[in-house]
Amino acid sequence: MPIVDLHCHSSVSDGLLPPEEVARLAEKNNVDIFALTDHDELAGLRPAAECLAASKVRFITGVEISIEWLGAQVHIVGLDFDESSEALNLGLSSIRDGRVVRARKMAESLERLGIAGVFEGAMKYAGNPKLIGRAHFARYLVELGVCKDVRSVFDSYLVPGKPGYVQHCWPTLADAVSWIHGAGGFAVIAHPGRYAFKKSEMKRLFAEFRDLGGDAIEVISGSHSNDDITTFARVAREYGFKASCGSDFHGPGESYVELGKLPVLPVGVVPVWELFK
Ligand code: AMP
Ligand code: MN
Ligand code: MN
Ligand code: MN
Repeated sequence: MPIVDLHCHSSVSDGLLPPEEVARLAEKNNVDIFALTDHDELAGLRPAAECLAASKVRFITGVEISIEWLGAQVHIVGLDFDESSEALNLGLSSIRDGRVVRARKMAESLERLGIAGVFEGAMKYAGNPKLIGRAHFARYLVELGVCKDVRSVFDSYLVPGKPGYVQHCWPTLADAVSWIHGAGGFAVIAHPGRYAFKKSEMKRLFAEFRDLGGDAIEVISGSHSNDDITTFARVAREYGFKASCGSDFHGPGESYVELGKLPVLPVGVVPVWELFK
């Protein structure tokens, strides 16, 4: 079984390391097949690919698209697409514009709690101002000493029901799948174990995704328990999805697992990388 990591972030979105360093870490950790999947942005792909051109690592283009489904944020990973696709680039660009608008609203709501200067503070952490996101706000609130770590900031401020959370209109599942397929790539539901949907809603998500031609789900994810792995391997078989595997690495000390250090896929599922061109 090759060592595979098809879900990683760089400072182009909300990771801590520049794309070149994430690529070098993949090589150092002996990853055979590696995709960089920044949120809603492709700018890290070229530098990462160039860094690995003379290495044994097989580099796959990737992106993690923010969508809204049933009123909540869901992530769809796109893999092995043509990064020059106009429809994909236009779609991602519209998401980035929306992120800046949302960040202003998040800052307003946090300022109402008495946390001043939070927009500028979060921006200091955004390597790419258009990719401003909740992780950058979280890092700034840790810097202020409001919480002890990024995870506690999310729990107390940045998830639905908490004061810094802002409802936002992201694209639809159909949009994301069509942009990825239009660019010749494969669409993957990211970390299905992380969503707060009811069981019946998860079934609806999988059925809609299958009906749209969705290709795979992450069976192995840095945020999946052993039970999640068993559950989602069963889902993959039931719905005819291929199985993907990704750490969701964001940087040293801020990730569930190290880049490339993941369990192997369970038997009986078909690896998504068998589809790669
Ligand atoms: P955004 O795209 O700006 O809404 O932020 C989503 C990102 O926030 C995810 O990709 C993770 O990097 C991070 N995130 C979401 N939930 C949590 C959590 N509970 N703890 C830590 N980081 C989280
Ligand atoms: Mn992230
Ligand atoms: Mn995600
Ligand atoms: Mn991710």
